[in-house]
Amino acid sequence: MLEVQHIVKAYGKQLAVNDVSFSIPDGEIAVLLGPNGAGKSTLIKSMAGLLRFKGEVLVNGNNNKTVQARRDLGYVPEMPAVYDLLTVQEHMEFIARAYKLENWEGFSEELLARLEMADKKSKLGKELSKGMQQKLSIACAMLPKPQVMVLDEPLVGLDPHAIKELKEMLHEWRDAGHTLLLSTHMIESVEHDWDCAYILMKGQLKAVMRREEETESDTLEKLFFRITEGEVTEQ
Ligand code: ADP
Repeated sequence: MLEVQHIVKAYGKQLAVNDVSFSIPDGEIAVLLGPNGAGKSTLIKSMAGLLRFKGEVLVNGNNNKTVQARRDLGYVPEMPAVYDLLTVQEHMEFIARAYKLENWEGFSEELLARLEMADKKSKLGKELSKGMQQKLSIACAMLPKPQVMVLDEPLVGLDPHAIKELKEMLHEWRDAGHTLLLSTHMIESVEHDWDCAYILMKGQLKAVMRREEETESDTLEKLFFRITEGEVTEQ
């Protein structure tokens, strides 16, 4: 479970996130939608504990600054941050040691195989393409099997196979009871992949739609464009 309570974040005088609250229960995929500059990355970085902000983020009930919350939260940044001089396999070993994982090798193999990186294990981080770095970043975040995963624009830069595989994994994790949040500015890219959608615009949460509320005449896409083009609030 991921709870975001009254998050406010400003960069100097620029208010990037303005009093955003929501909570995502276990076993759900939530999407954070919004045009460029809406505040999605700022909100996600706040959840991941990378920014100072007002408000509170709870991961399974624990403040996100606690050791337990950090263990329970997996984060895939928008820009993959891989180590230039570690190989793909060494990245996985590094994560396994940092999280004191046991019997992780089989799952690591599975992740790398599913992301078509099994033959890249001895490649250095700096030798990987941007898409490969993104896949490694995803594999590293998934290896400890965190209860909650937040992924910032995870589909950007991935090839169609990787997109399909990542989506399948997210669905499997959802069905296994994990809590997932992914952000995107491309609404059509997550058409079949959300249980609840949050529309962010100019730092504010403008609308929430649950999958069961969507009808043929009132789709998420229509709501999204009504909000982003018409600037109405539907809450
Ligand atoms: P999104 O991820 O939805 O594209 P961001 O969270 O990156 O939006 O940005 C929200 C707002 O905050 C934008 O107006 C952006 O210009 C501003 N912003 C983001 N990062 C910084 C920063 N490091 N310094 C100053 N302003 C920033």
